[in-house]
Amino acid sequence: MADNGNLSDSAAVRCRYCGQLNQTRSAENGAAKCGRCRLPLSDKPHKKFADLSKHDYVHPADSRALAALRTIPGIDSALKKLLAVTGESAIRVIFTASAVKVTPQQCPDLYAKLQIACTTLGVDMPELFVQQNPVVNAFTGGVERPVIVLHSSLIERLTDEEVLAVVAHEVGHIHAEHVLYLTAARLLEAVANVALAAAPVAQIVTQLLSGTMRAALLAWARRAELSCDRAALLVTQDADVIGRAMMKLCGGTFASKVDYDEFLKQARDFQKNYDEKALDRFWADIIASGLSHPFPVWRVSEILKWTESGEYGRLMDGVQESAAA
Ligand SMILES: [Zn+2]
Ligand SMILES: [Zn+2]
Repeated sequence: MADNGNLSDSAAVRCRYCGQLNQTRSAENGAAKCGRCRLPLSDKPHKKFADLSKHDYVHPADSRALAALRTIPGIDSALKKLLAVTGESAIRVIFTASAVKVTPQQCPDLYAKLQIACTTLGVDMPELFVQQNPVVNAFTGGVERPVIVLHSSLIERLTDEEVLAVVAHEVGHIHAEHVLYLTAARLLEAVANVALAAAPVAQIVTQLLSGTMRAALLAWARRAELSCDRAALLVTQDADVIGRAMMKLCGGTFASKVDYDEFLKQARDFQKNYDEKALDRFWADIIASGLSHPFPVWRVSEILKWTESGEYGRLMDGVQESAAA
């Protein structure tokens, strides 16, 4: 009998993330995905922030490192010069030439995820690109007009919810007003890469930025990740989605064989032995490997700490639930 397809057996479910009305059989609700954003359909509410301040979620280590960075004499003018030379237009040209631009017609589900992250946090839509790249990563750059770039491997390996987490993390960099310093930090990381060390841009970087400036910028950039992981949690509203995305950043293709609960245990063990100074020394060595989003285990341990402190819950409770219809 084909009566399972009757309208009477179907329920219209509005996507809690993007608002799309989906026709779906009620029995399938658990596994069904939204036809627009591809995120799982559910009856749970999704909260949108009407007036989120970066001070509501920015990690104290980020604030401290940024304050230290800003006290270095001449840093702002040096960064302005650096970014004027390397430039916004260069970033834009590189990605419009070598990456796919995401639009409502091109990769519409990714466009919907970007919209969800922007409306949840309260950020104007930046441009989003997907670039062919085997390293599971993403970044945000720009000066006046930020762009977000997702590597293709990230979309291939992560679930739709995990991709939303990564997009939301990048949108978090915009919301937290990281973009200018972050772009400079990414340039530093790029020229630390052996293949680029001889490029003209590497000489410009070392001419314009002192060793103190470079070290402070990189120390801040790593801590800035912690704030944006929190922003990602404010969008996914599920800490396990952040945890699993981190596990995949950590383990690559191997992550499918990794036990998530064991990974969480590792994050908790890490927290016990945490030593910020030792971590900084270690980073100084690994920065040459071009790792821009290091230490997923550390980052997961920080997200666990934030949720368990009750701070995340209080922030969520202070927010209006989005109207479901
Ligand atoms: Zn949706
Ligand atoms: Zn980041």
